[in-house]
This record gives sequence, structure tokens and C-alpha cells, in this order.
Amino acid sequence: MTIDLKQYELWFVTGSQYLYGEQTLQRVEAQAREIASTLDEAGEIPVRVVFKPVLATAEGIRNLCLEANATPRCIGLITWMHTFSPAKMWIGGLAALRKPFVHLHTQYNREIPWATIDMDFMNLNQSAHGDREFGFLNTRLRLERKIVVGHWQDPAVCRAIGAWARAAAAWADWQGMKIARFGDNMRDVAVTEGDKVQAQITFGYDVYGFGVGDLVRAIEAVSDAEVDQLVAAYLEAYEVAPELRPGGSRHAALRYEARVEQGLRNFLESGGFKAFTDTFEDLHGLEQLPGLAVQRLMNDGYGFGAEGDWKTAALVRALKVMDAGWGAGVSFMEDYTYHFAEDGSDKVLGAHMLEICPSIADRSSKPRLIIAPLSIGGKSDPVRLVFDARPGKATVTSIVDMGQRFRMVVNTIEVVPLEKPLPQLPVARALWLPQPNLKIAAAAWMYAGGAHHTALAYAITTEHLRDFAGMAGIEFVLIDASTDLETFKDQLRWNEVYYHLKRGYAGG
Ligand code: MN
Repeated sequence: MTIDLKQYELWFVTGSQYLYGEQTLQRVEAQAREIASTLDEAGEIPVRVVFKPVLATAEGIRNLCLEANATPRCIGLITWMHTFSPAKMWIGGLAALRKPFVHLHTQYNREIPWATIDMDFMNLNQSAHGDREFGFLNTRLRLERKIVVGHWQDPAVCRAIGAWARAAAAWADWQGMKIARFGDNMRDVAVTEGDKVQAQITFGYDVYGFGVGDLVRAIEAVSDAEVDQLVAAYLEAYEVAPELRPGGSRHAALRYEARVEQGLRNFLESGGFKAFTDTFEDLHGLEQLPGLAVQRLMNDGYGFGAEGDWKTAALVRALKVMDAGWGAGVSFMEDYTYHFAEDGSDKVLGAHMLEICPSIADRSSKPRLIIAPLSIGGKSDPVRLVFDARPGKATVTSIVDMGQRFRMVVNTIEVVPLEKPLPQLPVARALWLPQPNLKIAAAAWMYAGGAHHTALAYAITTEHLRDFAGMAGIEFVLIDASTDLETFKDQLRWNEVYYHLKRGYAGG
């Protein structure tokens, strides 16, 4: 499943009015067209940017917004008021708009032409106040949007739009997304539960429950030839343990895992699912908890959450979309155990029973494919990939259901090399320093109610995540190098009040 962001469009929408005459509008249009095509070609912006004719009437604005709503490939608008565009014209359109938008506050010329500037120039280049009129209306309408300020040829402007575009692509991907859920949540676990009706209202995705028997049928339908093909692919891609190789004592387990992978893949593809969950407590008819199969499907772009964690499965998928084209790595993750260091550089060892995505693996060597007992669940030994996550700056993100609302919790981290090898640990792992340090980060995380399951991503920054939370209209709390614990606790208290009031009668 390749995620192609070029299938998506941002519509470049310029506002003006008829006050200045036809000739001025033609110049506005020519300049807007040039800006749109420059943004379209900018490497920082991963989606298409499509120029739309300049808007100068309420009818035109409303029609454009309705057209955007009805066009699936349009994932949002870039709005810019080249001249003054009286904003009451925008009320009808923006009130109807169901796509996110970024407000680009720029102007055609970079610098003031000191020697030649006259009133014609002043009439043409008015975004400094035209965009403020537009900004007022957006704020008056309480519209969520991102404002990007700067000259359109500034790479930082393109990067800010690009980050927002990645979030908008993930948001579009969530609308109507189907998540397959094999079995229920792990019994008695609180944080993986949640209101699936409210999640669909808020996020747009739908969680479909299946008995694991439905999956077993798909696995049994896989042919030996398909299994042969996958086994050959494993032998090529991984450092396969001798006992799993053809003729080895555990080769049958590898073939079984290949069958599981193909069955899962067929099930997800034929059902149009982009993410899935399973649980070790519901494996009736399966010989083992899927390990390698889940790791490989995640690597191909599927979202995954263990123990029935559909919220994290959706989140992993969203981050996979944001990471498309970069392939920097996104995985399901769990805070597993700590290393309290004498020098205060306390670290988290992140891992899971099996299901860590090889997209985050250190690429200096092939992942090892091994078989080992699971120790829980009472099933056969699962086959799994074992590797170290590669060092680098990253984020871990969680979305929790607070009962009245959803909250996104993000911590910036630095994945570091293992201090020593872990020869006895048969799972993939990541060792990291949370910012600002473990003492503050872990306390803040738990005050915020962040889950033990997260999505770990290298290239996805707080900017992407903040933009995404904005589109969803959910709470966003960040734990980073500047976090002060007491201020953070105050923020949580204030947010309680704000979101309680914002929710109002109908819920949100
Ligand atoms: Mn778990």
C-alpha cells in the first residue's frame, strides 16, 4: 500500500474585490498564479497546489467552498488576500467550508520599492491590511486555521505550509477510514477503551469489529504458492535464524507466519481497511499472536494498535500518511521499562511484545528474524523481527479519550544508541531520552493521562501534530525541552474549563 501524497490538492484561493478596476484584478490574478505555481513546485510541499480564479464576490466564494467540500482530492485551501477583500463576503463560504485551510499572509513583492512606490503600487499590494480583515473574520467565526507569515519565496514559509499539508493529507485520509478490529480490547484495560461513536464524529474514522474467526478463514484460504513467495522475500530481506530457514527445525512456524501475513493482507485489502488491531486474549483458531505479519503490514503503511487499541492504530496510520515520501519511520510503541542513570540522563526503553515497525530500524544491518516464546497467551512461539531503533530526534504521541473530549499528548524525545547489547531480549527496541528529562516528562505525561501506547515518529514534529490536532479540533498538550511541570499542570486545569465550555450542548 503506497501512500501517494501527490493525489491530493491544496487550492490556492486569492481574495480581492472590484473596487480597483479590471486591470488591477488581472495583475492580482497573474501574481497569484505565479505564487501558486511556485508553491506547487516547492519540494517542501508534498501535495499539488492548484491555482483557483481570484474571488471577489460572496457567491464566488461560497461556490468555491462548496466545490472544495465536494472534491475528495482537495484536502484544504491556502487563502491569501492580495488586496483588500471585505470579509463579510467570506462569511457564507467559510461557514459552509468543511475542509481545513491555511491562511498565507504574504505579499507579491519581497521588499518595498523605495524609489518607485506610488499609489498604484499601494492599491495593488494591500495584503498587510487585507489579510488582517480576513483574520478578524476567521477569529470572529472561531475558525481553526494555521496562519503562515512571510514572503512566498522564503523556504521557511514553504516548510510551514508543507507541514500543514502533511497534516491535512492525514486528516483527509481519516475521513471515512475503516479500521478492522479483531477481537475486543484487552480485558480490564482502561486507556485503550473509548467512545467509538464520538471518535467517528470527531475524527471521521469508523471502527469495524470482527471475530478472529473471520481472520482465521482468510488465513486458511492462503495458497502454498503465496506462502513460498513470502518466505523467499523474508530470506532476502532479513537475517533469518537458522532454525527458521528451509530445512530448519522451526521452518513450519515461519511458513505459518507467512500465511498469517498474506491472510491479514488479503482481509485488509479486500475490506478497504487502513488500520487494524488484534489482542493476545482473543486468538481462537490462530496458532500464535501475529508478530512479523503485523510488523511488515505496518512497514507498508497500515496503522496498528495492540490489545484492541483502535485509537493508536488510527494515529499510527495518520503519522504514516504524514511521513509519506520521507519514509523516516513511524511505529506503534510502548513505554516498557526505564534506565535510571546516575548522571540523571534517565532513559526509556520502548518496545512491545512483538509489534514494532521495522521502518524505525537502524539501517546499518538487516533486522534479525527469530522465534521465541511470548510468555503470555498460551500459544505457540511467534516469529518476529528484532532490531534496534536508529538514533535521532523523534516524537511520541498519544490520543486519549477524556470522557468529554479527546486529548493529544506529545513528547519530544531523542532516540539514542543502546548503551550495551541486549542479547537476551527477543523484541525490537528503542532507547530514548525524553525531553526535558524523564522526571518531568513522565510526570507531565501521566498528569495529562497519556497512554502507555504511542506512535513514535522521526520526521513528524510538534508542528505537524499541532496542525493535525487543530484540524480535529481536539486538545493538544506538548511536553518538550521548555516544559515546566507546574505551568503544565495549570494548562491542564485551564483546558478543562475551556473544553468543557467549548463542548456546549451538542458535544464536540
Ligand atoms: Mn501493549
